[in-house]
Amino acid sequence: MISEKITLIKANIIEIAQQFNRFPADINLLAVSKTRPVEDIIAAINVGQTSFGESYLQDALPKIQALTKYDLEWHFIGALQSNKTRLIAENFDWVQSVDNFKHAQRLSTQRPTSLSPLNVCIQINISSEPQKSGIKLNELPNLAAEIAILPNLCLRGLMALPISSQNFTQQCLPFRALHDTYQQLKNLGLNLDTLSMGMTNDMEAAIAEGSTLVRIGTGIFGKRQQV
Ligand SMILES: *Cc1c(COP(=O)(O)O)cnc(C)c1O
Repeated sequence: MISEKITLIKANIIEIAQQFNRFPADINLLAVSKTRPVEDIIAAINVGQTSFGESYLQDALPKIQALTKYDLEWHFIGALQSNKTRLIAENFDWVQSVDNFKHAQRLSTQRPTSLSPLNVCIQINISSEPQKSGIKLNELPNLAAEIAILPNLCLRGLMALPISSQNFTQQCLPFRALHDTYQQLKNLGLNLDTLSMGMTNDMEAAIAEGSTLVRIGTGIFGKRQQV
């Protein structure tokens, strides 16, 4: 049951936070609803979940439109393409997967000024995997400075999806590197509050290393069908 799984994950987050001396209230839960039907999202809404993550624009739009009567926060977490930025800027509250200035600039230009600024995270390719989205750590300070001054965006933080590992110690290493980088950017004067890291299989390591937003799909909705 989706409602029971959400209750369980939330209890789990509190327990892990306490174990690692974190404030449970500093760790937010994003329910990753990509490929799931509207009914599953409503089941989550019914137990108080309000933030949802989607990776595929065409899959997400009908769900966003079907659920406008609820006060929800939609996060785009999939790969960005130039021809998709307008609909993303018009329909989402957050984009966590920004990894170049061109896309950031398009999102800023295309964000309707009737809406609040679009919240963005820069995606880092923390494990330097050639096939994955995200910028390299050494490119981050410049990109962050450029994005921070775009008028219709609000740069909130960083997101990463490290190489998967079943070993807690191994899982911690990239998360620690990301947290260090996040702190460095804050020390440079950027006003960031979001470190988006941790999924179903590595949530504990991510929270131990400072995550403020865990993105959970399978742990809430069960195994995904292939798309
Ligand atoms: C699918 C996805 C998730 C959720 O992963 P689970 O292992 O199902 O919890 C989190 N983040 C991103 C960027 C994703 O694409």
